[in-house]
Amino acid sequence: MNRELGGPKPLPVILEPVPDELLSSWIARHAGFYGVSPLTMLRHAIPEAKSLRLIDTKLGPTDAGHIARLFRIQPSAILEMTTSGFPSSAARLVAPCAIQCCFACAEQNRGQGATTAVQRSWTEGWRITCPVCGLRQRDIRDATSAPIGPLSPFEGLWKDALHGERLIDHALRGSAVGWASPIDIVRLLLVRRCPKPFNHEVSIDHSTILGAVVQGFDECVAQQGFPRPTIARPILPVGLRIALLAGISIIHQEGPKLISELQNQTLGAHYTRFASIGAGMSLARSSPLQLN
Ligand SMILES: [Zn+2]
Repeated sequence: MNRELGGPKPLPVILEPVPDELLSSWIARHAGFYGVSPLTMLRHAIPEAKSLRLIDTKLGPTDAGHIARLFRIQPSAILEMTTSGFPSSAARLVAPCAIQCCFACAEQNRGQGATTAVQRSWTEGWRITCPVCGLRQRDIRDATSAPIGPLSPFEGLWKDALHGERLIDHALRGSAVGWASPIDIVRLLLVRRCPKPFNHEVSIDHSTILGAVVQGFDECVAQQGFPRPTIARPILPVGLRIALLAGISIIHQEGPKLISELQNQTLGAHYTRFASIGAGMSLARSSPLQLN
């Protein structure tokens, strides 16, 4: 197969993608079917491809067209199996591999013979529910045989968290989401906070702006032995992610006044960083579609 004469020759047998399937997963399943390595399968469409994983996050329209021809599907459907269309500001919220899963969908996929299928949403580090069936996502590391995962200390914030998840979803689809980008709100929430000197409940190393918005967040992260989440490392286990998503919803509803109050809880370089993200939000207010 080569693409010199108008692109790759389409495969004779095409496996049905499972709902929300990640492109690399679909290609890998075809590779298994045809008895070649996943990269070899990808190179039928893109001979110079170096990594299967990169196509999930950095696929351009030309390469999407080549893959689409190989699999006899529309290029737009290929792009929808990736996170390539997300704004660059959201790149750090996408994991390089599956970090969570939906048990119900995994079971369904197994029943259809797609045991190894990976859904795109399983790499999306802001999700707490499955976009296919609506059920709660579970961390891969908790994916034992137990049907229900551990409860989060933030279960009481579930409704707010669902609102935060929706806001991010809408923003990533390019819809206007109000006065500020939820991705920017995530960045603000993960700026380091300087707790008041008399507050010794939590180490200063673990203090985040989110801890000022959602009581108990910093303590919980410290107790569970996680490093403090940062703008560069924003993906949390699902149980803690509930707090982050709820924080987005709270700030979104409270508006810019809360941002000004929170800024006073930062110092030095963290203050500057907070102010810079906040200033970007002011600009975005006059242009709601701007997400960076
Ligand atoms: Zn599901």
